[in-house]
Amino acid sequence: MLRRGSPERIVPTLAQEFGVARVFWSHRYDPLGRGQDASVRARLTAAGITTECFNSSLLFEPRDVKTAADTPFRVFTPFWRATRALPEPGRPLPAPKALHTHDAPGDRLEDWALLPTKPDWAGGLRRAWTPGEIGARRRLDGFLRTLSGYGAARDVPAAEATSRLSPHLHFGEISPRQIWHALRGREPDSDKFRSELGWREFNHHLLFHHPQLPEAPLDRKFSAFPWRSDAVGFAAWTKGRTGFPIVDAGMRQLWTTGWMHNRVRMIAASFLVKHLGIDWRRGAAWFWDTLVDADLANNAANWQWVAGCGADAAPFFRIFNPVLQGEKFDPDGAYVRRWIPELNRMPDKYIHKPWAAPSDIRRAAKDYPQPILDLATGRLRALAAFRSLSSP
Ligand code: FAD
Repeated sequence: MLRRGSPERIVPTLAQEFGVARVFWSHRYDPLGRGQDASVRARLTAAGITTECFNSSLLFEPRDVKTAADTPFRVFTPFWRATRALPEPGRPLPAPKALHTHDAPGDRLEDWALLPTKPDWAGGLRRAWTPGEIGARRRLDGFLRTLSGYGAARDVPAAEATSRLSPHLHFGEISPRQIWHALRGREPDSDKFRSELGWREFNHHLLFHHPQLPEAPLDRKFSAFPWRSDAVGFAAWTKGRTGFPIVDAGMRQLWTTGWMHNRVRMIAASFLVKHLGIDWRRGAAWFWDTLVDADLANNAANWQWVAGCGADAAPFFRIFNPVLQGEKFDPDGAYVRRWIPELNRMPDKYIHKPWAAPSDIRRAAKDYPQPILDLATGRLRALAAFRSLSSP
């Protein structure tokens, strides 16, 4: 049953029409969700309905993981060590054999007309994903068969060696506890993968204790950062037309499938924040609108990490060079060619720097743009902006 409406409308209906005595749900950790949970709980209680909330979206309650000084963590490694010392997350219970449901008139999902038609821009998303519990379970089973290669191949975007469970986790189509227990007996192959789930826990821990994480840098010094407003640069970045193949391939993968490989997210985000000097919040907003796994905690914490202003972040002055990153993680250009057909015939030697190719080769890729900036100039400009923060 789908019912549109506020708690004011729904709560009396639950109590009077259906005689509901208890309501159970999985509570949330983001600021908006926490506020809504509190308001729903208050209204249900006032209507004489008992409420019970559970954690089904995280392995551990953010408030249960504390430093020796009883404060929240800001550094991942001790956070994860402390988390691993807690009792293991409980085994998920099997689904109930039967559910007693009330058949009540409600809206049909199709009537909400949520899917795009004119134009239908969602074909790439449909091909890439099977939303729902069955799709999530299939993804996990498939991934477990290749788990032993994860540690070595997870940074290679063309290898497709990661689980792609992130949207399923975000929407609760699979719980981290299900994944955790499916990994049992697969040590040490599963250690690296478990620690990635640990980063997810860490980011939710950060958001829980710092609700302003999506809007404000954790390192307050960065509040005064002299960001540039570069409309042309930003548009080129969103469209995958910066002239830097690894960045553009990632941005096109994002637009087409709603997902981007983690290594490429780091490179594309770093390029925006450091080489273009554009505020990390603008990049996070674009990701928020385009990622199928868009998640307030993970998105904000990772953008702050890349921008050097977050918890346990990469230092600002460590600036990824997109050419060297491409050559290291996509040495034969397989990932770039998949997303940038204009570069299909570019030899491996130039695939991450097509502007350096001899002119006859460049002509064959004439539809691919020239770089929108000189990397060395962008890097020096970023470092000067960073230095201005600490100068008197
Ligand atoms: P796997 O490698 O299979 O990892 C398994 C799971 O661990 C993931 O599904 C995810 O839940 C978790 N995980 C892995 N890496 C990270 C990480 N760095 N931080 C937090 N959790 C992680 N992830 C999101 O879920 N939502 C976001 O909105 C999001 N925004 C990001 C923005 C930037 C700028 C960057 C650099 C990273 C972002 N990530 C985000 C983290 C990461 O890129 C994705 O979780 C990962 O690519 C998902 O693919 P996967 O499921 O195949 O990962």
